Amino acid sequence: MSYQTNLLEHVTCNLCGADQFIVIYPGSRNGSVSMEENEFRSSGDEPLKNPLVKCAVCGFQYVTPRLNSARVLDGYTNAVDETFVSQARGRELTFKRCLAEVERVWKKQPGRILDVGTANGSFLKVAKDAGWKMTGCEPNRWMCDWCRENYGIKITQGTIFDSNYSDETFDVVTLWDVLEHTPDPMAAMRECVRVLRPGGLLVVNYPDIGSWIARLMGQRWVFLLSVHYYYFTRETIRRASKLAGLEIITIKPHFQTLEFDYVLFRATPYVGALARIARAFVRFAGLSKAQIPYWVGQTLVIAQKKGQMS
Ligand SMILES: [Zn+2]
Repeated sequence: MSYQTNLLEHVTCNLCGADQFIVIYPGSRNGSVSMEENEFRSSGDEPLKNPLVKCAVCGFQYVTPRLNSARVLDGYTNAVDETFVSQARGRELTFKRCLAEVERVWKKQPGRILDVGTANGSFLKVAKDAGWKMTGCEPNRWMCDWCRENYGIKITQGTIFDSNYSDETFDVVTLWDVLEHTPDPMAAMRECVRVLRPGGLLVVNYPDIGSWIARLMGQRWVFLLSVHYYYFTRETIRRASKLAGLEIITIKPHFQTLEFDYVLFRATPYVGALARIARAFVRFAGLSKAQIPYWVGQTLVIAQKKGQMS
């Protein structure tokens, strides 16, 4: 499936509104514009093709021109993603640690949690098992069905803006690997804050382009992907949080867990022969399905909505 040039849209800085920028990577489009079927899905791993720029006023890094966000949402809504759900077990393990981090900050009894862009619902499953009352929304129809069939949890199909949650409803709102995919992260964060109770927590996980590993890998950094529109650093996530009415409590490196074989498979484009040899060894040793933690710049932020808890 391919479209014409109206598939691209120009956007200004999402943090300060400025329209002056410095090009960091020019992109690799060579004039042709297309959007592959199934390119926009949770496990999307196409390298970034559009230009990555840095706002000349505030330094926020983002993609412009970019693939039209309405078309991209269509892509997310309709994609089928067996690759992603094949790693559901690893995601549950990751999310158990994530929830423990959140509970350490929360310090109270489990309350109401909203997971935005919940994908196949692994976080909701973990939160439910831990006694939280959980709600989730997810644009992808296939993931919503998967979650109902495999976890017995019903998710609202759509974005947070489609869901019309009431003001100050939730104790915790989570955005796991979501913010960098949204067409307007400030609007998404403000909507999350609107539905949070005063004193409630917003939890965000994002790939940090300012991390040492991102700087070391440069243009080969694994998170420079066509599915990512925005590239936060600690400085820009702090500014976004403040603008949304949040106070950051924790910001730290965030390890995720996947099957050993899958991590090596994803590493092959970067380390080539080394990853192939390691995969053969791991298979030989019977460790293919072992769950291993990996870190390539993922960062966890836990921020609190200003105001007193009622
Ligand atoms: Zn800016």
